[in-house]
Amino acid sequence: MFYGNIKKLNDIWKSFFPFISSPLLRGREQVNTEIPSDNKIIDEQQLTWQCLTDNLKSIVFIFNQEGRYIYVNPFMEMLTGFAASELKESFFYEIVHPDHQQLVKERGYARLKGGDMPSNYELKIKTKEGNVKWVELSVSLINIKGEALGFGTGLDITDKKFAEKQLKVERAYLENLFDNSPEAIVVTSNQGIVRSINKEFTRLFGFTEEEVIGHSIDSLIAPENQLTEAKNETDTVARGYRISTEAVRRKKDGTLINVSILGAPIEVDDEQIAVYGIYRDITRRIQYQKEMEDARRKAEEADRLKSSFLANMSHEIRTPMNAIIGFSRLLKDPNIHPEQLYEYVNIINGRANHLLQIINDIIDLSKIESGELRVSEDVFNLNHFLDEIYSVTLNELEQACNKEINLFLNKGLKDDEANIVADKTRLQQILHNLLSNAVKYTQKGYIKFGYKLLNGKGRKLEFYVCDTGIGIKEEKQKIIFDRFRQSDESKTREFGGTGLGLSISKGLVENMNGEMWVNSQYGKGSVFSFTIPLKSTDVKDKIVTLHDNNYSTMAYNWENIQILVVEDDILSSKFLEAVLEETGAKIIFTKDGNQAIETVKKNNVDVVLMDIQLPGMSGNKTTRKIKEFDKNIPVIAQTAHAMPEDKNISMEAGCDDYITKPIDINMLLDKIEALLKKFKKISSQK
Ligand code: ADP
Repeated sequence: MFYGNIKKLNDIWKSFFPFISSPLLRGREQVNTEIPSDNKIIDEQQLTWQCLTDNLKSIVFIFNQEGRYIYVNPFMEMLTGFAASELKESFFYEIVHPDHQQLVKERGYARLKGGDMPSNYELKIKTKEGNVKWVELSVSLINIKGEALGFGTGLDITDKKFAEKQLKVERAYLENLFDNSPEAIVVTSNQGIVRSINKEFTRLFGFTEEEVIGHSIDSLIAPENQLTEAKNETDTVARGYRISTEAVRRKKDGTLINVSILGAPIEVDDEQIAVYGIYRDITRRIQYQKEMEDARRKAEEADRLKSSFLANMSHEIRTPMNAIIGFSRLLKDPNIHPEQLYEYVNIINGRANHLLQIINDIIDLSKIESGELRVSEDVFNLNHFLDEIYSVTLNELEQACNKEINLFLNKGLKDDEANIVADKTRLQQILHNLLSNAVKYTQKGYIKFGYKLLNGKGRKLEFYVCDTGIGIKEEKQKIIFDRFRQSDESKTREFGGTGLGLSISKGLVENMNGEMWVNSQYGKGSVFSFTIPLKSTDVKDKIVTLHDNNYSTMAYNWENIQILVVEDDILSSKFLEAVLEETGAKIIFTKDGNQAIETVKKNNVDVVLMDIQLPGMSGNKTTRKIKEFDKNIPVIAQTAHAMPEDKNISMEAGCDDYITKPIDINMLLDKIEALLKKFKKISSQK
């Protein structure tokens, strides 16, 4: 400890506490308001001063005009680690941390020079060991006997500063978490009035801070129909409970979203001061869950349908097979009567056609589902076309036993206005499906079919098939258009069928840019309708008659004609031989493409019936090669590949016509005759 002269220090005491005697005196004397003057009192004051400064938990120091310490108290020694002797005569700013030295110099000197600088400030000092301590300093100017001295006191605020820093750090953590959280967060009063929101809240709901602060969170984002529920949840949290729920909420632009909500109270010293809510957008998850649920239901449905489809198919295929196999065996009887023979062959033929229909349906369905179905554009007269369909249906009705049904056809256009462009084969397929169903599901009454012109936005034709049959229950009217579905799916159902016809027909209509629907009354009858866009044309078609199942080769005389049949399947060859030899034509058979080319080169072939799927060189390639050296030989492709695009490929390869297996004999004979005439192999006059 160093002291200037005692007198000076005593003067200093007096200058601070002019009217208060030393605490040491107080036990013996009452507070003396008079200024003490004798030596004894001076000693006591000095003692009091010393006792006070020694025991103070604050630093006390005095520096002179030069800025050098002339006094430091023990607490300052302890705080700085410097002994009083080490500090003596050093400049008061030397122990100040470099960060604050400038500040201290300016303020300290300014004080000394009588400037008006604030005297309280916080600064860092550097201890002897090099540690940093914070002190809250108060420096004032005292005038002792004309000498201006700096008198400083200071509190050690290192712990406070540390706590403040900690607080700042924690606050920064929280603010960052709040602001950058991927969840939308809102802090509200216990009553649900918004106090703050984070950035994600703005991003998710579209509201800015200004738009929400002071408003009720429920009124802002709960849709009308969820408001009561939302308010109940706010009340629950206000009563100190946590909630975790999922709900629908509304964005600023009105869009509804699915959110998960977590609400919880914020408590300080056991008092609930606010509430926070965390919102997470789960719209995609909910959507995904819904899709998964739909997919699961569909998979279960598909599984169920698959089983019923297999059972159904098995039944549908076995029934005609049963007839085909059974009646074929009966044909072996050498004593069979010609009438029976005719009847059995007819049955076998009919059942085989039925089987073929099932196969065609399955192929069509897979084409529709894979989007590979192509619609062709044929020019034809709709009225003539419907006349033919009428006669085929009439024929069907005649063959259906015990039915009392009248058939009517209504045409919506005059014959000369009815030339249209559409896919004739597909249109025929759709009408045939609907009419066959009408025949199948009607016992008596009538079947009316036809079309009318719709003159709306874009002209359309609306076709209909109306019957007075069993009708369809309302709840089944939609599903019958789904594949494999039937209105009666029980094991004991009365009517057979695969449940494919309507789904194919609808698919075909949609492929033609139309629509299909049904109106039906259970027990009374049904009307199936569909539209297709109308494309009229002035071009007139040639009338081609649909063939019935009977044929006659008598009409054809090809005695001087040589027909080359390129076919690797023996039974198919035999069938063609049986049909063609009745025309008087000479028939040559080859089994592959190379043999066919050789035969054409060496013989005078008038027409070729070319199978497409041949071993080695395909029928298309063989045709191309034949046409390379002789363009004048007509080639008819005959194939089990029955898709329209297969036809196009063969026609591009050079074939002149195309016929699908199983071969319709009349059609084949017609086609051969037409080509023989076209290529002038026979005369066009009959
Ligand atoms: P299928 O006739 O082979 O069962 P469809 O797809 O053609 O398959 O028809 C599906 C179902 O729609 C039929 O099983 C039947 O229940 C119902 N249906 C179709 N047409 C009619 C109709 N004209 N009258 C009553 N029910 C019909």
